[in-house]
Amino acid sequence: MFNCEQVLAELASYLDDEVVAEIRQELEHHLAECKTCSVIYDSTRKTIRVVTDSGSFEIPEEVSARMTKRIMAKVRETSPPESKP
Ligand SMILES: [Zn+2]
Repeated sequence: MFNCEQVLAELASYLDDEVVAEIRQELEHHLAECKTCSVIYDSTRKTIRVVTDSGSFEIPEEVSARMTKRIMAKVRETSPPESKP
C-alpha cells in the first residue's frame, strides 16, 4: 500500500493519466482513505483546470512536477511522519 509520499510522487503522472492501472488503483485507494492527499489531489486538479480554462490546453510536465515537489515539501512540514505497523 502506498504512503503519502509515494502518492504525491505519482500524483502529477496520475493527473496526466500516465500511470499504469496498478498504480492508479493504489492511488485511488489511498486518496479514498487519506484526507490530506485527497485535499491535495483536489486542489492540484483544480489548479490544472483553472489553467486549462484560461486558454492553456496543455500543462508542461515540468510544471506539474515542480508543483508536486512544492506540495510534497509542504506535506512533510505539516504532517507527522507516518507510523509504521
Ligand atoms: Zn496520504
